[in-house]
Amino acid sequence: MGKRQHREKDEGGVSERREVAAAGATNTIDDLENLDNLECLICSEPLRPPIFQCTMRHTICLSCHDKFPDKCFFCSNTTVYNRCLELEHAVESIKLACSNGKHGCTARITYYQKEEHEKDCPHAPCFCPVTGCSFKGPTATLLEHFSREYKWRSTKFIYNEAFGVRIRGDTPGSCILVGEDGHIFMINMEMEPAGIVISVCSIQPHITGSKFKCRLSISCSETGYYQAAEFQMRIINLYDGMPKDFMFLVPKGLLRRAITIVPVTITPE
Ligand SMILES: [Zn+2]
Ligand SMILES: [Zn+2]
Ligand SMILES: [Zn+2]
Ligand SMILES: [Zn+2]
Repeated sequence: MGKRQHREKDEGGVSERREVAAAGATNTIDDLENLDNLECLICSEPLRPPIFQCTMRHTICLSCHDKFPDKCFFCSNTTVYNRCLELEHAVESIKLACSNGKHGCTARITYYQKEEHEKDCPHAPCFCPVTGCSFKGPTATLLEHFSREYKWRSTKFIYNEAFGVRIRGDTPGSCILVGEDGHIFMINMEMEPAGIVISVCSIQPHITGSKFKCRLSISCSETGYYQAAEFQMRIINLYDGMPKDFMFLVPKGLLRRAITIVPVTITPE
């Protein structure tokens, strides 16, 4: 907890790395280098066609124009807004590099679509959840990092088939699972007074990613105890450290042996 407070928020910000890659043809707009001047003066969203301009050249976006159709917010005068084709052409011609270029994204994105692209960019990184480690990268690289730096074992599994996760009663810890299509999952286990709590999460850069369901169960032949849980896994990029949303409790009474096996089934939705 709290480990990320000191970590620089350097991912996906639209205000950083705003180099103009191809401020092409129409350079009649003076301030192309300063992209802040290409934001709507009212709502500060990046301007995209259609762009409207009052007689005093204040430029605003379509939705702000709809809110104030005949009175300029800045001049406070009744005005006639005209389309500003020159600026529309300029914003269309500006292509920016994705902030995930260092993680392998080669996309060149129209200026005003940068934020949308980065929200779903498949090259966005996930983070090492270990306190004090600042490593980040695509999930495949993260997996290599886990095994190289921490010798964390990862287990390959097949969707829709139950496999046993071993829980050591003394040191529950965590383990990494790799699906047949390369998706990675993290099981985190912690000791609590009542037993061992388990969280299972899908590690992906965007919460809009692929969804998976998880089923866990535990039984004890001596006592006839049986318990199962099924839930949709949370998608996390591990930015906030180890997953803590515990969904399953293995009661202390079942942990008499050194190793307890919990069958887990993961299913894509
Ligand atoms: Zn606006
Ligand atoms: Zn105006
Ligand atoms: Zn990208
Ligand atoms: Zn690390």
